[in-house]
Amino acid sequence: QAKAAGRNTVSFFDPTMQARVSARAALEADMRRALGNDEFVLHYQPLMSVDGTMAGVEALVRWKHPQRGLVPPAEFIPVAEESNLILPLGRWVMREAGSRLAQWSGDTRTAGLEIAVNVSAAQFHRPDFVEHVLEVLAQTGARADRLRLELTESLLLKDVEGTVGKMQQLRAAGVSFALDDFGTGYSSLSYLHRLPLDQLKIDRSFIWSAVKEDSGAAIVRIIVLLGKALNMSVLAEGVETQEQLNFVIAEGCQYYQGYIFSKPLPEPELLTIIAGL
Ligand code: C2E
Ligand code: MG
Ligand code: MG
Ligand code: MG
Repeated sequence: QAKAAGRNTVSFFDPTMQARVSARAALEADMRRALGNDEFVLHYQPLMSVDGTMAGVEALVRWKHPQRGLVPPAEFIPVAEESNLILPLGRWVMREAGSRLAQWSGDTRTAGLEIAVNVSAAQFHRPDFVEHVLEVLAQTGARADRLRLELTESLLLKDVEGTVGKMQQLRAAGVSFALDDFGTGYSSLSYLHRLPLDQLKIDRSFIWSAVKEDSGAAIVRIIVLLGKALNMSVLAEGVETQEQLNFVIAEGCQYYQGYIFSKPLPEPELLTIIAGL
């Protein structure tokens, strides 16, 4: 029987693995229920320009679990990505962001804001992805030039031709693109210039090490130069201290996000901050 299971499988009973598999299955079933029950919610983290104005917000999903309280994405996005649940969840996030954009366009204080939405690989590589985004914009009445999609390096590596095609179609409609967590994945400089990206987001690990180690500072410097050379803006992620903020401004980053200004907030709290600016 062990042979039939294949050469690389563990052929003895592993209780911890068994437990993990059933915990995952339970989480998956719970997520499926939660999708039908409208338990997901978006929080919004300000994306700040170094001149002190708010350029937009990043939409970050949370799960309002009836028993567990507010569950952070790190605890369910990976499971959603391994099952197909990331597709309905991703569609929900897109629609919700579109509705917010449409609503915000009616108020001068929020009309100029962009919303950046995180897109998973499985979602992006679906053949109907472009169609779906355009449909959401049409149905919600959101302006395409207020929508920014955040993609990751690994997502872009797969099928570069097809990826560029999809990005160009959406860009023609006005949608913009950011490369999230830049520097942590497997970027290839040979194709980075072929991708129609508008922004590089420097991963927070580099921002944190930049004020401690020369090597971190060098990486931030190089990414800023790269962004300039490729005509992309550069945003520093995870800025927590004044020292980090001073550093990224001195290095020429145009945007930042981080706890130094604000954590991701529920919409009413975000609007309160905006009203006070
Ligand atoms: P991300 O896209 O890189 O989002 C930034 C994360 O950094 C957020 O974590 C944010 O709360 C956190 N962050 C921002 N500033 C600071 C700071 O100054 N200090 C620290 N320690 N953290 C900071 P969050 O909300 O827990 O999201 C984690 C990840 O989950 C996101 O990373 C993204 O990859 C994923 N995610 C969130 N929402 C969605 C979604 O709607 N769809 C998809 N596919 N993924 C999502
Ligand atoms: Mg992001
Ligand atoms: Mg990020
Ligand atoms: Mg990150």
